[in-house]
Amino acid sequence: NGAKSSNFLRSVIEEDLQQGTYARRRWGGSPGDGAHHAAGMPDPAKIRTRFPPEPNGYLHLGHAKSIWINFQMARDYGGVCHLRFDDTNPEKEEQEYVDSIRDVVHWLGYETRYADVPGQPDREQPHIYYASDYFDFMYRAAEYLIESGHAYVDEQTPEEMRANRGDFATPGKNSPFRDRSPAENLARLRAMRDGQLADGAAVVRARIDMASPNINLRDPAIYRIRRATHHNTGDKWCIYPMYTFAHPIEDALENITHSFCTLEFEDQRPFYDWLLARLCEGGLLQTPSPHQYEFARLNVTHIITSKRRLRQLVEESHVDGWDDPRMPTIAGLRRRGYTPAALRLFCERSGVSKSGGWIDYAALEGALRDVLDPVAQRALAVLEPLKLELTNWDALFGTGHLEACSAPLNPHDEAAGQRHFTLGREIWIEREDFMEVPSKGYRRLYPPHTGGDGNPKEGNKVRLKYGYVIQCTGVEKNADGSIAKVLAEVIADTKSGTPGADSVKVKGVIGWVGAHDAAPAEFRLYERLFKVEHPGEAELAEELNPDSLRTARGYVEAGLLAALQAEDEAPAPWQFERLGYFVRDRSTPLATGQLVFNRACGLKDGWKA
Ligand code: ATP
Ligand code: MG
Ligand code: MG
Repeated sequence: NGAKSSNFLRSVIEEDLQQGTYARRRWGGSPGDGAHHAAGMPDPAKIRTRFPPEPNGYLHLGHAKSIWINFQMARDYGGVCHLRFDDTNPEKEEQEYVDSIRDVVHWLGYETRYADVPGQPDREQPHIYYASDYFDFMYRAAEYLIESGHAYVDEQTPEEMRANRGDFATPGKNSPFRDRSPAENLARLRAMRDGQLADGAAVVRARIDMASPNINLRDPAIYRIRRATHHNTGDKWCIYPMYTFAHPIEDALENITHSFCTLEFEDQRPFYDWLLARLCEGGLLQTPSPHQYEFARLNVTHIITSKRRLRQLVEESHVDGWDDPRMPTIAGLRRRGYTPAALRLFCERSGVSKSGGWIDYAALEGALRDVLDPVAQRALAVLEPLKLELTNWDALFGTGHLEACSAPLNPHDEAAGQRHFTLGREIWIEREDFMEVPSKGYRRLYPPHTGGDGNPKEGNKVRLKYGYVIQCTGVEKNADGSIAKVLAEVIADTKSGTPGADSVKVKGVIGWVGAHDAAPAEFRLYERLFKVEHPGEAELAEELNPDSLRTARGYVEAGLLAALQAEDEAPAPWQFERLGYFVRDRSTPLATGQLVFNRACGLKDGWKA
């Protein structure tokens, strides 16, 4: 199930490798262009991709898809993927996000250190790129476009520019500044650069076609004036490149071969190609140029992946922070119990297409289950505890006797070995494993009672998992009528794994933990955050699932605590038998004395809309 599936991006790469499209390439921009990371002569037979986040927020499931596409394709085809921080916008970036994005990429299992980039002075350094390192080159490119008549400085007001852009039905109107001479334009560009014009007083625009049916080709802006301190270049610049101008240049300078992006950039591709062709003509860049390919964004039902909406969830306290286990952020998914392998499998299975659509939320959980089932260690837990007393225990085994039981840590992996625990006179069972008046077909514990036919029925027998068969004999009540304790008797010689185990046939097996040694724990039982399939269309309040978190207090198998202490910093998900996959909450350190588990998912899809 982890096998590579074909997709159109893989076909493109395979075709290019076969044709040697990039093998003839002469690499890089010219020396001294500011592209110091990209200098050198990397192996031309390799494909190069990049993941270019803006460091302005926490990554989410959609970004995981983009990381997977770029890093996994590079890995699958012996290539290299660059982590590039798209920090051309001076105002929004923060170091905190740079660090968290880098950590997420590593956590997902991808390497940002490569030994094959000779331009790197210290090969032990993470091989990470910053778009702002290319500002010098970008500025030179803008001067070149102006000198060659492919760009001009427009001093219309923003309102005039908007009005003259036209719309889908109407061609745009040429700016009165469009036909100034290259020399005049160059002087104005330098005046912009030197701080002689106010913010917003002018922009540099590519000179393409104001009547193009593609509005993105109606003389798009490539530089704007913005007096802002940049985290990397400080106050060196008061003009900054526009994203659509910067991005193709970043790709070309880094020798990217395949530039994968989401479909909303499809209409930008003609400009991407136009720009690189002009800069190649001028000798600023080499051919063949990188090529942009668009894929449909990942949309998953019951999930939102817009940064703006995610921020709203946090700010309005619908969730408990960015790493709330219900959030589709990587931090949230991780805290929920998602593993890197599960996210990669989900990305592989959800495919890459040109045509959008929604992936079912069940596929996300399905990938998690499929990854965890073979590897997760097992333990018994009781989420909603009900006391059960084995009334013949002392008579059968002697007062205080504890019966040693064992179970595989992982039934799929004998080498994982056994876990050991003990059964005594009192145990905790799951509240729903007992019914005072059994419903039709109920196979778990119930006391002797009068059946629907008026005849007496004996109390039911079930097996305590890894223990004995027991028979329910009655129930003890509190003053308010609630159940204080279930009473049962052990049936001798029926212990699991002994020759007599099958002497008494039962229809039900229930989980339990010893009341004498089980560790108390809190369980956070999560459901989908949104009850509607396609959230984002109405008010949050109408779309949120009011039951997305329920808390239960119960117990876990005694031996679990030692195992959890050993793994401390990186809790791994466990399967609590019959209940689902749970992970210790990484935000509640064991040192607090609290044991908190997050339910990652159930054992099967139990969602009822
Ligand atoms: P958002 O819309 O949530 O703010 P973004 O696209 O603005 O996301 P970036 O930091 O620019 O955020 O994203 C880095 C990369 O991740 C981009 O190439 C972007 O296309 C990709 N990406 C973001 N969301 C998705 C998604 N849902 N599916 C696939 N790729 C995505
Ligand atoms: Mg973006
Ligand atoms: Mg964005």
